Amino acid sequence: MAGKWEPEASTRLLLPLPWTQLTGDTAEAATPFSSPLFHSAISELPATFRSFSTGILLIPPVFPTAGRWAKICATQSANKIRGCDSYGCGAYNDQSGGKPHKGVDVICRDGSLVYSPFTGSTKMQAKPFGNRNAIDNGVLLHGSGFCLKIFYIKPFKYRGSIRKGERLCVLLPMQKVHPGIISHIHIQNCDLSDPTPNI
Ligand SMILES: [Zn+2]
Repeated sequence: MAGKWEPEASTRLLLPLPWTQLTGDTAEAATPFSSPLFHSAISELPATFRSFSTGILLIPPVFPTAGRWAKICATQSANKIRGCDSYGCGAYNDQSGGKPHKGVDVICRDGSLVYSPFTGSTKMQAKPFGNRNAIDNGVLLHGSGFCLKIFYIKPFKYRGSIRKGERLCVLLPMQKVHPGIISHIHIQNCDLSDPTPNI
């Protein structure tokens, strides 16, 4: 492995937070790189945590980031991504609807209260279709390092601050538009990246 050390793909998936680099004064104070003790300690680490090519010890955070958002749907015990029904599937990048699904669908009940997944502010109305059907509404939510569009809901306010877990909106009557569908909130990152690790 020449040059820059990279975490294995599986490690990156579990630990997407920025990695902590211990180097310079911080690391020297704790464990000088030159000491034999340091090298024997390093050799005890799993291979994925070692970097002999750079001399820098990279320490991953010890906690996973999955579930860092609050529970979203009041009538569910936890955030759960919609599986498949006759209309399609709720996972990110699912292709069953014709074009890739660039969000995730969190199961919820029509009319249910929906909570803010993080602290931030609602910024503006965001409509999924623009066809004015019964579920053609949503909001853009920004804050805590995230930017989301949340669809098929009616927010309590289109502009204003909101705290994590606070009442954000109500799920619109999806069964009226798509009878038999697994009712859900559609959540997509503003940059269309995968929000699943935060769900
Ligand atoms: Zn969706």
